[in-house]
Amino acid sequence: MKVAINVSLENEMDLTLAYKKSIKLAEQLGLTVATQTTFATAVSEVCREVIDKAIDGLCSLGVITEDGRFSLTAHITFVQDGNLNSLQAGFSYARKLIPVFDVLIAEQQVTVSISISIPRSARLTPQKLHLIYKHFDDLGPISPYEEVKFRNMELYRINQQKELELIHANYLNDQKNEFLSVASHELRTPLTILKSYVELAIQSAGNQNESLTKYLAKIDLQTIKLQTLIQQLLDISKMETGQADYNYETVDLNKFITESAELIRKLVPNHELKVNLGEAVKVRTDVVRMEQVLNNLISNAAKYSVPGTCIDLETFVAGKEVVVSVRDCGIGMSEETIKRVFDKFYRADEVKNHYNGFGMGLYIASKIIDDHDGKITVESEEGKGSVFRFSIPILPQDTK
Ligand code: ADP
Repeated sequence: MKVAINVSLENEMDLTLAYKKSIKLAEQLGLTVATQTTFATAVSEVCREVIDKAIDGLCSLGVITEDGRFSLTAHITFVQDGNLNSLQAGFSYARKLIPVFDVLIAEQQVTVSISISIPRSARLTPQKLHLIYKHFDDLGPISPYEEVKFRNMELYRINQQKELELIHANYLNDQKNEFLSVASHELRTPLTILKSYVELAIQSAGNQNESLTKYLAKIDLQTIKLQTLIQQLLDISKMETGQADYNYETVDLNKFITESAELIRKLVPNHELKVNLGEAVKVRTDVVRMEQVLNNLISNAAKYSVPGTCIDLETFVAGKEVVVSVRDCGIGMSEETIKRVFDKFYRADEVKNHYNGFGMGLYIASKIIDDHDGKITVESEEGKGSVFRFSIPILPQDTK
């Protein structure tokens, strides 16, 4: 059957709608008023039963064409929920009105077909039928209820589509995270081996071959940079899936900063890293993660400033918190960059073509500080430099 009209069967209003639409279609097909009423009554009798006793009902009205003959037909489908016999009792009245009445059951889906043949006197032709279908296609809703129902169905459809899109986007995101996680794991192993051999080679070269030691130190530095990038890739996927792991311990902050600064100095050989420590305090931190934050802030300070300039690393106590700041005299940032600097993958337009990077470091640093119950902020002026500050809670002095 080619469907001209669909009415979903949910309540009494739909019953009226199914009745009115049956009348309209029968009328357009050239049937007499008596036949229109008979057909519409039979359809609404079945629809009433379906609305009362079944679920997911749908009434489809259209025309079946067979051997050049046409029949006005209603297919009323629903999901059988309970005893079909109780429904069939109600169908008997409709069957008396229209003898061409079939019930087809496939699994739980039931289809009731009601058909009435269109007499030749109606002078229906395929062309005329085509126009009738077009008429119903173009026809707007016949009542405010149908209008609301139509809009609801549209919203439902849009909602379904959005849900599917969301599922798809989440699937792609999961795939991306899994790829990042696997790829960075795989990259980490050979790099760790490479780094061990470079360290061994530096030791073996000792002081005997100065230029060789210099080259090896450069390889070592680049290996550390590569390790940091791979760690960032791994962290992004972990942080997205909420799987970032922390090993918190109680730490003397000044001692930790002094030791970290020694290691990080190696990464910024062309800058002078000045450390200025405030009052000694204890903090609860994951030292590996915290070193990652310092590493990122100090490497950025070096990357985005001219070689030979200073980077200041300071700590000071502010109430119940300790503040750590990293200041550079570099290129600084625009207002727009200041706003977005902690966003994932954000990189200022000005730096994209001149400086390497992925825009992951500050996003990860901000997550780590968040997870330490802390706060990270930035102040910056274009052409003058930037200062990044993060604060974390201080532990009572007697904490072990
Ligand atoms: P990356 O440096 O790899 O691009 P980050 O997440 O560490 O990624 O930094 C994001 C962006 O913030 C950088 O691309 C740059 O535009 C800006 N930025 C970060 N640190 C500084 C700094 N010290 N001076 C100027 N711009 C900076």
